[in-house]
This record gives sequence, structure tokens and C-alpha cells, in this order.
Amino acid sequence: MFSVIHFEGKTPGPRVLITAGVHGDEWLPMRVVRELARWLAEDEALRGALRGRLTLIPVVHEAAFRRGHRCGPEGKDLARTCPGRAEGGETERVAHALSAQIQAADFYLDLHTGGRDLCVTPLAGYGLHRDAEVLAVQRRMARAFQLPLVWGTSAELEGRSLSVARDARVPAIYVEYLGGVAEQQEIARGVTRDHPCVQGCLNVLRELGALAGEVSGAVEPQVIEDARPESGHMQVCHPSPVTGFLRPLVELNRWVEAGEPLAEVEPLEGGPSAVVTADQAGLVVVRREVPQINAGDAVAVVAQSFPAA
Ligand SMILES: [Zn+2]
Repeated sequence: MFSVIHFEGKTPGPRVLITAGVHGDEWLPMRVVRELARWLAEDEALRGALRGRLTLIPVVHEAAFRRGHRCGPEGKDLARTCPGRAEGGETERVAHALSAQIQAADFYLDLHTGGRDLCVTPLAGYGLHRDAEVLAVQRRMARAFQLPLVWGTSAELEGRSLSVARDARVPAIYVEYLGGVAEQQEIARGVTRDHPCVQGCLNVLRELGALAGEVSGAVEPQVIEDARPESGHMQVCHPSPVTGFLRPLVELNRWVEAGEPLAEVEPLEGGPSAVVTADQAGLVVVRREVPQINAGDAVAVVAQSFPAA
């Protein structure tokens, strides 16, 4: 199924689960979790500072990894398949096993990138949980990760690892960190213990009392919370009207006004390019990077705060 690595603390404390590789083409977080596991295995002092039980799963969906693809062999996205089925196909079985791990945890961190197609500004995100206590812990965890952006979105999205955590009332965050060529360049430079995602995991453990010490780092993240029902669903924002060749017209992490062009797409069949414009003002947090795009694929995600209705 997948490899699970446990570290037992010397003193009692929370059970924390950290996963990567829910999607098979998001390689940087897999390296991050493996690096974290190596560090803990080698460093007695760090291991000695652990409390409770830390569970690491570096590559959740190995079949998707083997394909080098977001989805499993039957074309299923694990993050739309949770809680899965024990008797189902490959991705359903992985979803089922992952859900059991999440339900057995007190806190959960799920690490992602934009994969091969998208690039995401480094952010820690969570669902705007109906339970104020769970939500407050998620906000603390997201801030402690020490990335420039904290993004709270609809808690109503189904099929995700975070939907399982939501239903089990396990406080959970997800992390997005680049994707596309930027992610590959970062992996080529080497994913070391100094990497912001390795440090971010340790900081969340400290915040939760699962690791001795104080949260280190001075990042004051920008916080965006959007309570609208489909917020946080990155694959449907600003769809291209045609299949063709994509040219992005905005930089990641820039503020755009409503109506500003995000990208142009030259149709495969020829004819004039279609321009996709921002449907709201906000920060460009996701940008499609690959030049090939199908009609209906997202070109960008623009994030802005919207209060609960
Ligand atoms: Zn992902």
C-alpha cells in the first residue's frame, strides 16, 4: 500500500500525521518528508525532543508516483476519492488506508505542490471548519508553518484527505509549495533540512506540543479567508474556453483587478487567441505553467477574502 514511518516520543503527547504524495507528480513534498524522516532517524537530540507519536507517509499514492502522474492507474484523483473503499480499485484502496491513518491521528498535515501543470505560491491552507475550536487550531498550525500566505477556504469540498479530517474533527492543514519547473529546479538544488517545508513541519510540531521548543522564524503571513462554497477548488478557476497553446499574462503572487487579463490561449484549430480575465480582484496564488491547455482547465486562481454569508 504505502510505507509508514513511526517515531515514538520519550514523553506522552499528541499523535501527528504528516503525508506527501497524495498526488503522484508532486515530488518536492515527498523529498521533504523523506528528509524529515532521515533527520529524525540520525539525530538523537531531535528525536529526544519528540512527544507523543509522529507518523510520516512520504508517498501516499505509489501507483500514481510510478506513473509520474497526479492520478492513479484507473485515472482517479486520490483527493477526490476519500474516504475510499477497502474493496475498491487501487486509488479507492489507498484512499481507504489513508483515511484510517487520518482518523487515528490527533493532528494532520498534508503536503502538496501544483504538480506538473500548476505553480502555487507557497501557502498553508485549511477548511473553514464549522467547529470554532477545530478552526482555531488549524489557524495556529497554518501560521506556524511560516510560509508567506495562509489561505482558509470552504470546508465543504468532498473527497479530500482534509474532508476525512474534517469529519473526524482532526485539526488539519495542507501546504502548497510551487510546482511545475520551479519545483523541479528546487529539487535539483537539493532538498535539505533548511528547506522551508522541513522547517515548517518542525514548527507545526512545536506549535502542537509534539516537539520541545518554540516556533522559529519571523514570517508574518498574509491571511486570506474565503468562505464561498467552491473556494479552494483550484482545478475549476478561470477555465480556458478553448484547447490550445497557453501564454500566461500575469506573474504568480501579483495582485490583479477584476477584468485584468490572466492568460491568452491560441486555439489548436487556429483563429484569434482567447483572453481569460480575472473574475474578481485578488492575489494570483496559482498559475498554470504548461503551454498545452484543454478547454475547461484552470489558467489561474485568484484569492481574496470573502466573509461567511
Ligand atoms: Zn496535490
